[in-house]
Amino acid sequence: MMTDQQIIQQPVSILDGIGVQSVNRLQKLNIVSVLDLLFHLPIRYEDRTRVTPIANLNIGQSALICGTIEHSEVLMRGKRSLICQLRDGNGSQLSLRFFHFSAAQQSQLQAGVLLSCFGAIRQGYAGLEIIHPEYKILRNEEDIVTESSLTPIYPLTDGLRQSTIQKSVKQALTLCLEKIPEYLPASIRSRFQFPDIQQTLLTLHAPPTEFSSADLQQSIAVKRLAFEEFIAHHLKMLLGKQRHKQWQAPVFPVNENLKQDFINTLPFQLTAAQQRVIAEIASDCAEPHPMLRLVQGDVGSGKTIVAAITALAALSANYQTAIMAPTELLAEQHFRNFSQWFEPFDINLVFLSGQQKGKTRQAILEAIADGSAAIIIGTHALFQESVHFAKLGLIIIDEQHRFGVHQRLALREKSIDAKPHQLVMTATPIPRTLAMLQYSDLDISIIDELPPGRKPITTCAISNERRQQVVNRINHWVQSKKQAYWVCTLIEESEALQCEAAEKTAELLKAALPEVNVALVHGRMKAAEKDQIMQAFKSHQYDLLVATTVIEVGVDVPNAGLMIIENPERLGLSQLHQLRGRVGRGELESYCLLLYQAPLSNTAAHRLGIMRDTQDGFLIAEKDLQLRGPGEIMGTRQTGQIGFKIADLEQHADLLEQVEIAAQQILQEQPESAELIISRWLGGVHQYAEV
Ligand code: ADP
Ligand code: MG
Repeated sequence: MMTDQQIIQQPVSILDGIGVQSVNRLQKLNIVSVLDLLFHLPIRYEDRTRVTPIANLNIGQSALICGTIEHSEVLMRGKRSLICQLRDGNGSQLSLRFFHFSAAQQSQLQAGVLLSCFGAIRQGYAGLEIIHPEYKILRNEEDIVTESSLTPIYPLTDGLRQSTIQKSVKQALTLCLEKIPEYLPASIRSRFQFPDIQQTLLTLHAPPTEFSSADLQQSIAVKRLAFEEFIAHHLKMLLGKQRHKQWQAPVFPVNENLKQDFINTLPFQLTAAQQRVIAEIASDCAEPHPMLRLVQGDVGSGKTIVAAITALAALSANYQTAIMAPTELLAEQHFRNFSQWFEPFDINLVFLSGQQKGKTRQAILEAIADGSAAIIIGTHALFQESVHFAKLGLIIIDEQHRFGVHQRLALREKSIDAKPHQLVMTATPIPRTLAMLQYSDLDISIIDELPPGRKPITTCAISNERRQQVVNRINHWVQSKKQAYWVCTLIEESEALQCEAAEKTAELLKAALPEVNVALVHGRMKAAEKDQIMQAFKSHQYDLLVATTVIEVGVDVPNAGLMIIENPERLGLSQLHQLRGRVGRGELESYCLLLYQAPLSNTAAHRLGIMRDTQDGFLIAEKDLQLRGPGEIMGTRQTGQIGFKIADLEQHADLLEQVEIAAQQILQEQPESAELIISRWLGGVHQYAEV
């Protein structure tokens, strides 16, 4: 006897009509078992449950129709086509149009023939028509076949037929619907009036006739599955955290003297918020279990020094620190800052980027592997397979929002014996509901204070028609020994186009501003070249830096207090805020000019208004969430990474609020379900144990 679990886990090949080829095609849709097939949901439905009178048809609808051909002919006008005029019992007319037809079809579809047909209704030249309907010739009206429930239409892959999948699902329902276990506690189901899992899947695969395609996403059945899926993601993070906290981690003993000496060399005093967060981190790292902490702090709040002081703790315990930044530019900047800060310690800092090749790269990899490199700074190149750390004790990830969740998790696996402590930093405040899906494996610290003396940035929106004035303003600005940025943006994230636009703009500005030293950086330059230009800009060999959004994160040049952003209407608020964060870093009065393309839509005007009115990153993030919704905010980079099967962040946003509570309830009431839910939605248990 097979257990229920064995029955539902049987391969799809046991179903009639599923041969080797279909197995392969289904696998492309991630369908391996019969159970997988039942979790492959229709995208819409067709109604073949009843015959619709022609008089009742609506354009756009797909319908089953029954009628007699009154007249048929081949038209040569335009594209050659066969047209059949169909009239039903109520006397209304409809045309069937075939662009591809055989001689046999043509002789079959003659006046007097009774047909049932199905297809999408559209507006033709002379009344309603269906192009290439499915049809069946009937002997009499009783001959017509109607379905007892709506016909589900499934997502397909090349070569897989709709009818194959439809038939297989029907068999799968008979075979194993009853055996699918319920994982949501009854209390949760009744609170939300969710149907049980069997009813849910039955409704979706064989919906009652009153169901419509439009109801699908909003149906309680889909909601129930989406909710379960959200819960699975949240639970995965929670259990991952629990497990992670049980691992051994190196202890970094608190060394107050060393820390104080280090802080005394800084040209500024730490803010109270920085000190608080540093203390939170220190107490995590003094435990023999890995720290998993997210530091949130607005642009310019001084996260880098917090990272450095954490690295100092690892250093004094003789462990390596890996620092990962999302762009080469930022990684290089960190490398320079850290080199300066750690100069008195006579340690080996290395920089690792994807662009280093050959001997240079080999030497760096060796230093990392033999432990002679104490602090390793780089881009995502850090978690490539060829990188082996001798004694990794701390991982710091800067500007986490630019990385996917999985990249973050991958780096954690790099350590051999003990799991390293992990510090994640971001300037983008994450709305709580989203944080729950992505960061509930982390503890959170917030730097809610900017260093003293920062002047507010004056932001104004200026139409492109006044571009010349803006250019003149740069001239004045640099005459008083100050520097400026000009940021070129494009809507498509095509790097090539963006770089081209920046090159062109730089040429134009050079011509328009002969007195001004103009430099250019963009993403397609070699690391060394970018680095050299940034260095030169920082040391004021250039007055104006024309750049793409590569400078979005982290770049720090206090003497640059004027920023022009082209086409700001095309960027999200959070991204604008990040860009603007490049100015207002020193003692200067700073300005950000949003050079938009007129005319502005109302929403765009509203958004630029928000930028003008506030500089509070948290407020901006909230507005961004309201205006764009969670899907856009997280961007495809993030949502794609999460890879929901059924849930949709937009459609099911209202469910997010309840996910945390429900997950806690499951952990308390039936903890054994937690892992089952995770493996139902996110694959085998072994996969998440590694997290
Ligand atoms: P972010 O949080 O955006 O990463 P950074 O770490 O780059 O910010 O810091 C921004 C600037 O503020 C840097 O020039 C840094 O040296 C400086 N800074 C950091 N902490 C303080 C402080 N407590 N007082 C004054 N300046 C500070
Ligand atoms: Mg930073």
